[in-house]
Amino acid sequence: MKYMEERKKIVETFRFLDRLGLNAGRSGNISLRLASASENEEDLFLITPSGVIKRQLSPEDILLVNKDLDVIEGDKNPSVESPTHMAVYKARSDVKAIIHAHSIYASAFAVVRKPIPPILEELVYVTGGEISVTEYAQSGTDDLAKNIVDALGEKKAVLIANHGILTCGKDLDDALEVLISAERTAQVYILAKTLDVPKLVPSEVMSLEQELYRLKNME
Ligand SMILES: [Zn+2]
Repeated sequence: MKYMEERKKIVETFRFLDRLGLNAGRSGNISLRLASASENEEDLFLITPSGVIKRQLSPEDILLVNKDLDVIEGDKNPSVESPTHMAVYKARSDVKAIIHAHSIYASAFAVVRKPIPPILEELVYVTGGEISVTEYAQSGTDDLAKNIVDALGEKKAVLIANHGILTCGKDLDDALEVLISAERTAQVYILAKTLDVPKLVPSEVMSLEQELYRLKNME
């Protein structure tokens, strides 16, 4: 079976997310854009199947697909959110990995449809700034895919209205770091609000961190 190392990494990541309470049950999905051997060759992707309890995934369950979601290797159906992943890959050539999760604190923001504000310098450096929320659309629809691309922009994370969060990056570790940072910031915000009014990172520091974010991602 091809791409065994990448498949194992997806499986390990889901077990890690489950242990940390960042995802649970059948929810969530992960995909990777695989490096094509030559310019003439089309991009291939690994994506998790639908309907499987994610901590029980095995490397063989993960599907190898092309951009039209034709299954090249695997006997399950690609995640219902696959069109969303493909829309992000199409819009962002820099994105090589995507994680979609139903983490609790980010989902709380998604339910009230409020962005996660830049209250920690770390969030700006890791994700690109405030994490916006999509317009509402039902799971698995083309409208949702479009809304996610629009709200994501050039950043690495977006809240999905009444649903969860999607993060992306130059590899799976990058997308995972973004998810952890977004979830921690959401949690800190909610706790901080019980103490007093949370303050934003000062605008000059925001600009500096955003510049560092841009430089980091040009490497
Ligand atoms: Zn979902």
